[in-house]
Amino acid sequence: MGFEQIVGQDLLVGALERSLKCSEIGHAYLFSGPPGSGKKTLAFLFAQALNCTGPNPPCGECLSCRKTKSGNHPNLFHVKPQGASIKIEQLRELKESFFYRTREGIKKVCLLYDADLLTLPAGNSLLKILEEPPEDLVFLLLSSRPWVLLQTILSRCTHFPLKPLTDEGMVYLLESREKLPSRERDLLVFLAEGNPGKALEMLAQGSWKEKLEEATELLKRMEHSPEEELISLAEELFRRDDLQEIIAAFLLIFRRRLHSCLSGHSEGILLNISKPLNYISPSSYAGDKFSGMTPSRKYGGLFYLEKTCHALLQLQSELLGNVNRRLAIEVFLLTMRGVV
Ligand SMILES: [Zn+2]
Repeated sequence: MGFEQIVGQDLLVGALERSLKCSEIGHAYLFSGPPGSGKKTLAFLFAQALNCTGPNPPCGECLSCRKTKSGNHPNLFHVKPQGASIKIEQLRELKESFFYRTREGIKKVCLLYDADLLTLPAGNSLLKILEEPPEDLVFLLLSSRPWVLLQTILSRCTHFPLKPLTDEGMVYLLESREKLPSRERDLLVFLAEGNPGKALEMLAQGSWKEKLEEATELLKRMEHSPEEELISLAEELFRRDDLQEIIAAFLLIFRRRLHSCLSGHSEGILLNISKPLNYISPSSYAGDKFSGMTPSRKYGGLFYLEKTCHALLQLQSELLGNVNRRLAIEVFLLTMRGVV
């Protein structure tokens, strides 16, 4: 398996493939993105490709690729933080290896994990090497906080920032791993926020299913409990550590209800939850068989669904700000139930 396993980073992969094809290899590359974004996978494939002897690097099958995969390649060095930082001694230990001569065409590759944890002396030592690097040495820096790196190091790196995956990219990734009911898949895509590592981890743990079930149960109570119980329900929500995730699940449930209400079927991807609601405005469905639906139909009508979606989005943003959380939740519940 080569670069084709990287989903949604076509521009970056294209640039790497072109530089391999033209044999225009720099001395330092920086792969950045949050944990789980796939930077390690991309950098590792590039490291593999640099010494691959197969037709489409990285082929994954030639001797060099196999040695890289098994961790036995003599010209591949891994530098990881020891404790809380990467220390100058770690680079000193490798200095001799960095400067020995390799056979013609062979690259020495140093993967520097969490490069933002380089101490200042280690950073300066790296800089010194980068100022006059041996012809055959390539550094691949990985970082989730590239802004912490020394400017002088950054200016010597070709930067490959990994972008969050689109919803379509995430769906493609998940479907290549496991066939899920669309309701569960959509929630997983939404909760993972474009981060493939997070999505695959959640998929392995299965925790998002519980979240969806819990949200469905809570919603039933929110819609059907007597009004006098709403304040204690608000208290219960207030005490949840995962409230943002539960709200995300509520939003997904409401979007699907809205979609179902407007289109008459419940299947199909209904993501892009952060987009404004007017893209699915009831007025755009004038003449539709559902356009005559009475807005007052409790818990199914467009008016109720739209109003609650808006209230949920508002609650979501208020909880991220500096507001009285308990009060915000109470107001949301009362708005949802039409009490205020
Ligand atoms: Zn190969």
